[in-house]
Amino acid sequence: MRDVQSVPDTCRNMFDMSIQEVNGKGPKKRKKSLEQICDNEGHRSELIEDAKKEDAKKEDESSSAKNGAGPRVEGVELLHWRDMPQHLQFNPYVLTGYRPLQSWSGCIGSLFYFHNETINILTHGVSLVFMIAVLPGLLPWSGGGGGAGAWFLSLCHLLGALAPWCGSFLYHLFMNHTQGASLYHRLLQLDMLGIWVSQSIGAIPMVTATVYCAPTLLRYTALAIYCLGSLLGLYKAMRAWSPWERRLCFAAPFCMRLLLAGARAARLGGGDPHAILHVFLQDAVSLGGGVIGALHIPEKWFPGSVDCCLNSHNIMHVLVVLAVYSMHQVTTKDLAWMSSVDCRAPLRQL
Ligand SMILES: [Zn+2]
Repeated sequence: MRDVQSVPDTCRNMFDMSIQEVNGKGPKKRKKSLEQICDNEGHRSELIEDAKKEDAKKEDESSSAKNGAGPRVEGVELLHWRDMPQHLQFNPYVLTGYRPLQSWSGCIGSLFYFHNETINILTHGVSLVFMIAVLPGLLPWSGGGGGAGAWFLSLCHLLGALAPWCGSFLYHLFMNHTQGASLYHRLLQLDMLGIWVSQSIGAIPMVTATVYCAPTLLRYTALAIYCLGSLLGLYKAMRAWSPWERRLCFAAPFCMRLLLAGARAARLGGGDPHAILHVFLQDAVSLGGGVIGALHIPEKWFPGSVDCCLNSHNIMHVLVVLAVYSMHQVTTKDLAWMSSVDCRAPLRQL
């Protein structure tokens, strides 16, 4: 740190000092103001005070640059990947913008400045608020004479559409809590539980519609197999520790949904035929998001350049929002279809 008390007494020396060291840049601009200061010796302390502030600022910037970390915001210094505890080093291609370990209030306070989890928190936090405000009013709770069935399937859809945002929002907001790895893994389980509810319970209306007009035995067998596969996925999800284990937990219900989507496309299953595009999109888009997240695309090609925006997890979050939109389209169309279909007609004419 430079010693500001050694500023020479004469105005000429002060000019030289200020131009060469205090200001660093833009000497012409400062020269004019310094002339005024030299006219009034009593104001010399202002110059020294300015120089002190400038020094402190430069020191902050140089220490951040040395660390390779992000800037200091709102009194919180964002950190580099290598400064983070091991449980938060899950993406080696995102290098900067990490929040330090924080208390509950510190984590909540991080909502008000930009860091490398801001996009992840906002994409699902805003979706959560929007869904809570809008979705219940869009569902046919007792529509079409569906009675308890329509109410139950509407509830499944509501849970499936809300769950991923709740778990994800809490996970991303509090992942850097000072309680460390143990709390982090609990939050990760909560995030996984949210995805499971969305993928399994949220898809029950689609599965029900697909087998709606099938013989009773086949209908209940298909629903039972789907529920068992989903519960197996939940069991594995709560015990999965590696990223690939977590992704593969949902393979069984995913394959079952793919089979049912194929049956719908071949007009062997029920459900609104106009929903077929979204039937495929809801799984294809979330699968695409999972693959992008697993491969760390695009940050593996440009490490450190998409730390806060447009990295694989940001893209995955947006794709999950689109997948839930497709799920909503399928569910509302299928609920309307079930309330009006005549199962005695051949499926191909429905
Ligand atoms: Zn996430």
